[in-house]
Amino acid sequence: MKQELTNAPLLVVGAGIMGAGIAQVAALAGHEVLLYDARAGAALDAREQLGQTLDRLVAKGKIAADVAAQALARISAIESLPAAAKVRLVVEAIVEQLDAKRALFQQLEAIVGADCILASNTSSISVTAIAQGLQQPGRLVGMHFFNPVPLMKLVEVVSGLQTEPAVAQAIFDLSGAWGKVAVHARSTPGFIVNRIARPYYAETLALLQEQAAPAALLDACLRAAGFRMGPCELMDLIGHDTNFSVTQSVFVANFFDKRYVPSLVQREMVDAGLLGRKSGRGFFDYRDGAVKPAAASLALLAVAAAQRLGLHGAGAVAERFADALQQAGVAFERLPASDWVGLEVDGAQLRLSDGRTATQLGAEVALFDWPLGGAGALAWTPSLHASAAWAQAAPAWLQRLGFAPQRMADSPGLVVARTLAMLINEAADAVQQGVCTEQGADAAMKLGVNYPAGPFEWLARWDVGAVVRLLDALDAHYRGERYRVSPWLRQRA
Ligand code: NAD
Repeated sequence: MKQELTNAPLLVVGAGIMGAGIAQVAALAGHEVLLYDARAGAALDAREQLGQTLDRLVAKGKIAADVAAQALARISAIESLPAAAKVRLVVEAIVEQLDAKRALFQQLEAIVGADCILASNTSSISVTAIAQGLQQPGRLVGMHFFNPVPLMKLVEVVSGLQTEPAVAQAIFDLSGAWGKVAVHARSTPGFIVNRIARPYYAETLALLQEQAAPAALLDACLRAAGFRMGPCELMDLIGHDTNFSVTQSVFVANFFDKRYVPSLVQREMVDAGLLGRKSGRGFFDYRDGAVKPAAASLALLAVAAAQRLGLHGAGAVAERFADALQQAGVAFERLPASDWVGLEVDGAQLRLSDGRTATQLGAEVALFDWPLGGAGALAWTPSLHASAAWAQAAPAWLQRLGFAPQRMADSPGLVVARTLAMLINEAADAVQQGVCTEQGADAAMKLGVNYPAGPFEWLARWDVGAVVRLLDALDAHYRGERYRVSPWLRQRA
């Protein structure tokens, strides 16, 4: 089915948040748009609202008045589906229920022409399953927009088992013509973004469950690594009910694979009705007058002069430490052949986490997290057997190197290292399973959830062997399936 959809008339079914956004984008791109909703009057209301939205865009100078007027004129609300017989594309954005979507598409097949493409904006239902029962299952494809549709650039073009490649390509090309960045995805639980993003929440929830650190500290460390929002404040924004239900659906859809196991911590938040911003409280308090806790900021600690200071290891972190020490006028010896990265201060070690705990590595040992961002919050931990003197000196050295040290429990992989390793691991599995390409995963995570970089971009800056060793160390520590290494990564290590 070769398709050219430029300026083709289209039908949007479901005039809710997503349907209205899709109608707006399509009309601004020049399409005649029919809008239908099962609830009488809803499509007309949505059209009226779109008129106000377009007026606001004109008032803000974002679009010209005539462009807005023409776009609105291209949108018509219809009250029955047969009025859409001539359309060449249907984009469905109705309630997230398999039966409702299947019934709608089967009904539509009897109305539209044989060359009409059927697209679903489902965020979690199998595209393969939606297509079952259609006379032409090959013409059904996922067209997964992100909320708010006019602002979010990403579209996941999701192919089910029977989707014809030309149909997926037509939607891919059309998304580009609408100013979006399209990424091909195979219909598997969570598609790309909702799957690869799971560890961003899950690792923080796991650390909270083992009381490794408070929410504000975890958020501060991940913000310092470049994420726009920490996981706790982000879950508060999304809503714990929504976030928990996505996690559960990915877990169930993967046949209860322990990798995706939901969190009791989040379950409790949902049970308590602490849903986040929308309920006034989640991890943080959003009620009037509440003050959001910040991560601890230590006063500048004194650093005792070292008799012998060694800088171990090579690579970006070692180079950065060398620069900082030189600028501070501190004499040190370089030990680039060492098998660990960090400072040795009169025999005590301040090491970059490699996934093993500080306690495992010895007594006078402290670990620090992967310093991905510039200065700012950086998690660290002393060994359970470290002397009080070293537990005081280690954060002072981190301050001297330009960080705001955040003490947490001796959990393997600390915060950033373990979160990023798990994001990379999930992305590697997705690529190996043909869900998306490496470039697709990077684009999807940057555009769909605003990550500062894509998982494969992090991997290129890190080292595949180090990521695998870190995950193996986590796996050895927790002994479950959760931290099993993606075969794709292991083969490249
Ligand atoms: P919504 O509740 O705002 O809108 C759904 C609309 O569909 C309602 O107006 C409802 O009356 C109408 N509807 C329900 N059943 C219908 C039927 N059988 N025929 C015609 N109209 C029907 O929901 P939404 O947030 O816009 O989500 C719609 C779809 O988009 C869902 O599949 C959802 O998973 C997906 N999605 C949502 C988001 C998001 O952030 N909200 C993001 C991506 C994808």
